Amino acid sequence: MDNQQGKGLSFAKRIYIPRVVGLGIGCLSVFAGLYPLPQPSWVWLFLLFNGFVWAHLAYLISTRTTFPYQAERRNLLCDSLFGGFWAAAMQFNPLPTVTILAMMTMNNVAAGGLRLFIHGFLAQLGGVLLSWLLLGLAFTGHTTQWQIYACLPMLTLYPMAVGMVCYRLAIKLAEHKRTLRALSRTDSLTGLLNHGAWKDLLHLKFLKCQQQHCHGTVALIDIDHFKRINDSYGHVLGDTVLHQLSRDLKRNLRQDDLAGRYGGDEFCVILPATSLQQAGEVMERLREVFNNYRHPGVPQLRVSLSIGLAAWHPGLRDAAMWLIEADRALYAAKNTGRNKVASASPANDASFATVTGA
Ligand code: GH3
Ligand code: MG
Repeated sequence: MDNQQGKGLSFAKRIYIPRVVGLGIGCLSVFAGLYPLPQPSWVWLFLLFNGFVWAHLAYLISTRTTFPYQAERRNLLCDSLFGGFWAAAMQFNPLPTVTILAMMTMNNVAAGGLRLFIHGFLAQLGGVLLSWLLLGLAFTGHTTQWQIYACLPMLTLYPMAVGMVCYRLAIKLAEHKRTLRALSRTDSLTGLLNHGAWKDLLHLKFLKCQQQHCHGTVALIDIDHFKRINDSYGHVLGDTVLHQLSRDLKRNLRQDDLAGRYGGDEFCVILPATSLQQAGEVMERLREVFNNYRHPGVPQLRVSLSIGLAAWHPGLRDAAMWLIEADRALYAAKNTGRNKVASASPANDASFATVTGA
């Protein structure tokens, strides 16, 4: 409901300025159309109200109600009703009539598509009917020179105002789209790439290595006995540890390295243009840094990492195979006592891991 209200309020705010401009200068076109015709004085008062008061009243109504969106749609239909009324009151003088009805229709289509276009059209017919009942029905088939001039501000300025609002909206939408895209690729706890986004990049890096035969290494990193940390100190502290690892990753990696959270307590890094040995040095440093982490509130907490590395080599068929090699190296690190870095040998056999670490 709050969201609906927020959306409705921004809708009302978006329409306010174009309505003030449109009705103000539209008043001039209608005045020119009405002037040569005999009119009761209330018609002139109503024109002043519609031209200079209604836009502010409509804004007050829609911003003070519980359902601003619906109120604003009603206001747009009132605009159309008044438009139809003025068209008939001007005896359908061609240019002022087409000018105000076309601008209102543009408004309705921009704000509510086909549905509001149809409802707006019906409201315009209602306005015509009302004018017919109150003022009678007549036709003037000719637009004078000065009536043409009086329509020019509406024909030029109002589309500019509406165009500007649509442009601003398009920019805002593009910004929201960028933000959503970034969010959909980010792990919310750590701020690193999430599983899907990281795997997409792994695939791209794999293709690049395959085409250019360049160096590249993948690291899979897993926190040792993380379940015990959760069980002993609680999940909030577990989250702090995950967050700490993401911070250490950001601090110890280069700009080009791509770190992500693979899932749970498992993290993953692509180190482009990096040999297995260089990657081993980087990960050994990370292992040490993380191993030295001390939590101020829980000084007895000890944390460590097991890390598996696999370098790209021409024998890899696809990115999944690259990841499997890193995974095997990770299990070698786990199975030989944890808190260490293990590397897959390019020879790709099962007893391949070279292990370093504590
Ligand atoms: P190993 O040394 O073999 O890796 O043991 P482990 O306990 O780290 O491995 P295991 O896979 O059994 O435990 C991972 C735990 O991570 C289990 C799960 O409850 C926890 N976990 C997964 N995601 C989160 C999270 O976002 N926050 C916290 N606090 N815990 C999580
Ligand atoms: Mg673990």
